[in-house]
Amino acid sequence: MSGLNVEPLREKVRGRLITAGDNDYDEARAVHNGMFDKRPLAVLMAQQVADVIAAVHFARDNGMDLSVRDGGHSAPGFGTNDGGLVIDVSPMRTVRVDPRNKTARVDAGATWGDFNHAAHGFGLATTGGIISTTGVTGLTLGGGIGYLSRGFGLSIDNLLSADVVTADGNFLTASAQENEELFWGLRGGGGNFGVVTSMEFQLHDVDQVFAGPIFYNLEDAGALLEMFDQFITDAPEQFGGFPAFQIAPPLPFIPEDRHGDTLAAAVVHWSGPLDQAEKALQPFWDVAPVVANGTAPLPYPALNAAFDVLFPKGIRSYWKGSFIKELPAEAIPAVVEHGATVPEVSATMHLYPINGACHRVGASDTAFAYRDAKYAQVILASWTDPTKDAERIQWVRDYYQAMTPWAEPGGYINFMQDDDFGKIEDNYRQNYERLVQVKRTYDPGNLFHLNQNIKP
Ligand SMILES: Cc1cc2nc3c(=O)[nH]c(=O)nc-3n(C[C@H](O)[C@H](O)[C@H](O)COP(=O)(O)OP(=O)(O)OC[C@H]3O[C@@H](n4cnc5c(N)ncnc54)[C@H](O)[C@@H]3O)c2cc1C
Repeated sequence: MSGLNVEPLREKVRGRLITAGDNDYDEARAVHNGMFDKRPLAVLMAQQVADVIAAVHFARDNGMDLSVRDGGHSAPGFGTNDGGLVIDVSPMRTVRVDPRNKTARVDAGATWGDFNHAAHGFGLATTGGIISTTGVTGLTLGGGIGYLSRGFGLSIDNLLSADVVTADGNFLTASAQENEELFWGLRGGGGNFGVVTSMEFQLHDVDQVFAGPIFYNLEDAGALLEMFDQFITDAPEQFGGFPAFQIAPPLPFIPEDRHGDTLAAAVVHWSGPLDQAEKALQPFWDVAPVVANGTAPLPYPALNAAFDVLFPKGIRSYWKGSFIKELPAEAIPAVVEHGATVPEVSATMHLYPINGACHRVGASDTAFAYRDAKYAQVILASWTDPTKDAERIQWVRDYYQAMTPWAEPGGYINFMQDDDFGKIEDNYRQNYERLVQVKRTYDPGNLFHLNQNIKP
């Protein structure tokens, strides 16, 4: 595509079209995962829906590879490409809250930090990710798992409508009332069906929460996991949180002599009445001696930003994940054995509970098929030194492999890596064929193929 003239597109858009000669080209072509060093022909910093429409026509008519980018967090680096076009919607990030109806309309480029700030102004929130720099759109299209999932469902369960530019350049609104099949596919089917330009969400009363990490000695990891699995089965739905393994960072609440030690952890979150938090979290105080307690009452957006520092833009990353229906006692030694060898402060294993409200939605009501899974597990390594690439990737693969006996064939598409394409059908189970039909209707030429691709 290097000989293609992009000037005709520049004339049709208000957003900047950044190409190789521009000072900020290197910044514009980079995505969050520093493993991907790609050189698109042009990056459009879309300002308006009209820009998106022009860019979709241009990419399709010229047979270009097309990346669609919001927060840029895609682990496989789908937000950039070699020689194609990137539509970056991040300049479009207005969030308009309707406090009377408890809804929010969010432009496609907003991050969860933008969203939570706006909603918190009204004492409201909805299910989003655990890091504030992740894009609302990219995360929601795959499902959306976070602290509030058990209480309010996945992000997609709170999605009321989405505006979409499809491959033919048409602008559609998808909701339960119109373009219903598209709406069904958007709720879990990823970026396969078009460029989303805005989304509307249901909000809930969530203001101050009680939350933070609790650290335990590694030898208590098994007891913690066993306790967590029993607790989470019928824990109040105001509880959202997950067990993890973590090399202790040099934070003031962690005893100095434990900095750098590998510890077991539980990141807890309670969105019920604050005066009930200590009691609700009693099993976490009782299970084993606490090495460090980082819990406190705090505004929900502050919790959402608390771990951002561990995952700066440009850090190298590799992930894998599976759904887990049950975590029997026999599985725990494998979780602990590999968790105990986390190689970096920004490498971890998180076991996100997705029961509660997530289970009250039918397995075919949205494209997200695993409504019977208790957990979405992610094993992730992030590091800075490129000489460590092979070692870090191997750590993730070994851990993932060790979990196979207890893992479902499918995993959460937002936790898939670029070598996980073979898992796509498994990720969608009974919903895959219907997703293919939606793809055939809205993108028969597979313009939107830089994603966990559903082939038409
Ligand atoms: C540090 C970190 C923390 C994370 N935490 C969580 C978490 O707590 N919960 C969770 O569920 N997931 C989490 N994830 C995974 C995350 O959901 C996925 O990586 C998601 O795809 C990121 O969305 P994004 O918009 O930031 O990324 P992008 O790379 O911009 O987008 C990812 C993909 O989404 C699609 N897409 C994005 N914008 C649009 C659009 N406007 N229209 C159509 N398609 C679009 C495209 O296919 C794109 O390739 C995390 C990822 C990272 C790196």
